[in-house]
Amino acid sequence: MKILIVGNGGRESAIAMKLHSDSRISKMYFAKGNATTAKLGQNVYEESVVALRDFAINERIDLTIVGPEAPLVEGIVDDFKEHGLKIFGPRKRTAELEGSKAFSKRFMQTNNIKTAKAVVFDAYQDAMDYVKTQKFPIVIKASGLAGGKGVVIATDLAEAELTIHRFMIERIYGDAGIQLIIEEYLRGFEASIIAFANGKKLFPCVSVKDYKKAWTGDKGPNTGGMGSVAPSPEFTEAHYADFEKNILAPTLAGLQGAGIHFKGFIFFGLMVTNDGTYLLEYNLRLGDPETQVILPLMENNLLDVITDCLDGKDIDLKFKDEKAICLVMCSGGYPNKIDTGFEIKNSDKVKNSQVMFAGARYAGDKIITTGGRVLSVVATGDTYEEARKTVYADALKIQFDYAFYREDIGKF
Ligand code: ATP
Repeated sequence: MKILIVGNGGRESAIAMKLHSDSRISKMYFAKGNATTAKLGQNVYEESVVALRDFAINERIDLTIVGPEAPLVEGIVDDFKEHGLKIFGPRKRTAELEGSKAFSKRFMQTNNIKTAKAVVFDAYQDAMDYVKTQKFPIVIKASGLAGGKGVVIATDLAEAELTIHRFMIERIYGDAGIQLIIEEYLRGFEASIIAFANGKKLFPCVSVKDYKKAWTGDKGPNTGGMGSVAPSPEFTEAHYADFEKNILAPTLAGLQGAGIHFKGFIFFGLMVTNDGTYLLEYNLRLGDPETQVILPLMENNLLDVITDCLDGKDIDLKFKDEKAICLVMCSGGYPNKIDTGFEIKNSDKVKNSQVMFAGARYAGDKIITTGGRVLSVVATGDTYEEARKTVYADALKIQFDYAFYREDIGKF
């Protein structure tokens, strides 16, 4: 069986590492992959949906798994299906639950899913008039995809007005900011839950805590994720029960009511407040760096659960009674300006953790940095402390110029 995995991050490395010992898989291809995937299969450089589909037809790919959101929102699943290719993920219309925050908010409101109160705006003046009547802080979101930068927590009216101007008039994120969502600010802690979907039901994985701020102590700018821990130590059974009743069940009912029977992943970004668990956002894919801690804990065979979901069968997910920690090592300066091309040394000396490359590729025999988030170091243990010690001891071995990481991942 031949598999194509679309993406090049730590998430795709985690998927590849989970699948690679499966003897049914004869070859894995990655578009466009990284230093981990280069060792486990073949990296290919097709990027457009059409080029990927032609590749899948020519190479007789049996199954495609999509990591990032952009190809899903572009319609890669519709295109592959029209050409008779097997692919795990949502159609374009369903991916709008992630691609359009306005669509997603309306879906949540229509289906009584517990979420922050919000109003959607298409007109600049209406948004400006509205914020004058609100309390602060307030959350302003560009509706479209803005690479994780389209959300501003405005602390006063001046910041709110400036943000609306920048999104709607200056169009700093292009068309993503034509429509805005202005929503109530929720105070609490965040957690993520990812579920498999088989077209009829949703099957949730363990909860995850992820670390978005760049620097130790939860300081500095937001990033794509500096680390993650599973299960989330803060997300109790009571929180889970709240999530199941007020978010998971009505989401499934809403999908079915809209005639959406997708097979793929659905990610719930949650905010847990004193008043219960709220849904902030859906992603229609695996998260990064959530995947790096979920898959090492998952006892099921990943190919089996994906093919069962594609066949519309129920799955019985099982997770080890252990803790997993992922530490992301970054290029100096990330998430702002970075330099790349530095050699990464000693990753082969790591024995107790898994090294999952992201912004890194081979240049001859050497591995060099190519991006901001360079690699994930992932370990499991009976306790958070045990997993944490392993990860940090191994991170110390890996060296590249200007490397940095947070010191407090998994420290409670
Ligand atoms: P990401 O790139 O992390 O997926 P996103 O750009 O899709 O994010 P959201 O997840 O909706 O946008 O929001 C990003 C972050 O902003 C959240 O993780 C949370 O920290 C904060 N946030 C969003 N909505 C609220 C809210 N209503 N109250 C408080 N904080 C919020």
